[in-house]
Amino acid sequence: MPELPEVETVRRGLEPSMTGEKILRADVNRPDLRWPFPERMAERLTGATVLQLRRRSKYILADLDSAETLLIHLGMSGRMTVSGDPLGQFVHEHPAQGKHDHVVFHMKNGARITFNDPRRFGAMDLMATGAEGTHPLLAKLGPEPLGNSFSEDHLIAALKGKNSPIKSALLDQHIVAGLGNIYVCEVLFRAGIHPARKASRISEARIAALVPIIREVLLEAIDAGGSSLKDFRQADGELGYFQHNFRVYGREGQPCVTPDCASGIKRITQSGRSSFFCPSCQR
Ligand SMILES: [Zn+2]
Repeated sequence: MPELPEVETVRRGLEPSMTGEKILRADVNRPDLRWPFPERMAERLTGATVLQLRRRSKYILADLDSAETLLIHLGMSGRMTVSGDPLGQFVHEHPAQGKHDHVVFHMKNGARITFNDPRRFGAMDLMATGAEGTHPLLAKLGPEPLGNSFSEDHLIAALKGKNSPIKSALLDQHIVAGLGNIYVCEVLFRAGIHPARKASRISEARIAALVPIIREVLLEAIDAGGSSLKDFRQADGELGYFQHNFRVYGREGQPCVTPDCASGIKRITQSGRSSFFCPSCQR
């Protein structure tokens, strides 16, 4: 499932072919994904120019010159591909349309942006630009982890008295937006905090230390995603899925990477999701 760094990589990968460009035509090949598409979506997108591409949590927001903003959510299995970019950045031929190509943007510069989503947990919506604060998917999101409002004070206050495990608290999108299972596992390993420890039982100093660690883990992954875009010519045109070396995620039974630690990485299930951790390094 794409997490914040993957979504940011998709956003950056779309910029050269979408920002400042007109959508000549949008093909909307079905009535819905996770939810119905907005009314007359193809018509409302056709002829609009993309002013800028932003990201909020795991949502890509395309501000249009029609005073509307297109929201794109990749869901569990959504993929965006770029083909036929005339700037020479991408050399991919337009592929034949696939069964799960639900929305296709034909850009004036010749690029074709395809949204493919076999499981259809993704979403697209249109809203008035500036109305993100009241959109049902965005209104209750906590601060952006890489933004200025995500601070030590915010996190200490948000976790005060929380009896849930720290793992669940960091996955709570009201506390911090956009953190998912993979990167929370990595953050807790670097912070030396056991994923099952109750949030209220962690000292303020250790909570405060989570803030720079969260930023570091996300920025490293975004960097890895950026490198993947440089190899894009050789790739198949799909954005945002890149190789990244995790220290604990997916490493059950393998040795801990901490020098001199003799433990192996363990996996437990919390709220139906796997937590990977080192029982010696994380307390
Ligand atoms: Zn260890």
